[in-house]
Amino acid sequence: MTKTEAILGLNQEYLQLLSTGKSYLHSEVLPHWQALQKRARQAGYNLTAASAWRSFERQLAIWNGKALGKIPVYDRHSQAMDLSGLDDEQKVAAILIWSALPGTSRHHWGTDIDVYDAIAVPEGYEVQLTPEESAGPFAPLHAWLDQQIAAENCEGFYRPFVPGVGAIQPERWHLSHLPTAHQWQKHFDPERLRQLLAASDLELKDAILATLPQILEQYVYPYWQEDL
Ligand SMILES: [Zn+2]
Repeated sequence: MTKTEAILGLNQEYLQLLSTGKSYLHSEVLPHWQALQKRARQAGYNLTAASAWRSFERQLAIWNGKALGKIPVYDRHSQAMDLSGLDDEQKVAAILIWSALPGTSRHHWGTDIDVYDAIAVPEGYEVQLTPEESAGPFAPLHAWLDQQIAAENCEGFYRPFVPGVGAIQPERWHLSHLPTAHQWQKHFDPERLRQLLAASDLELKDAILATLPQILEQYVYPYWQEDL
């Protein structure tokens, strides 16, 4: 059952530390990531991971921070939202626009990476990972990535969060290693997820458990790959 646990962000058995020493990737993905970084460097970009593997506990902290108003929640236009007037189901839907339910983040798999171009970061600027950045300082990197993906020459990486798919906002900064992710998704067990969430200190838990199948249908499964 270790892969069933790993896909929920509960163990690090399949991971390897990046050379930056800051984040982990699936050991099968790491060489492809390094190859893509090397090619990006030759094209003039410093392709850098802002975030790669993330644990269940980390995603839980992000979720609870947003539910409790300690971390800002943004609408589809990147405007900060006030959740206080919403009922619990509306709060869940608002958070899910930009943040995965703990246990369902593709970052748990070690196959997915949020990227930016370190060369293009303005001095003194902290990377936020927003649509405005992707269309601004990091636009040339993303255009280059688009070309590699369209030519099926991107070391197996593609963008899962594109317009017109599922209910999550498009995230141009989010890359996924398709062959590895496709293998990984097969180990997902929704019943194990339900148990895990029920036993956790998740905020908005009742509203989430009451609608878990619908959440998976809207925010998780649409981003999975058909059989290759
Ligand atoms: Zn991401």
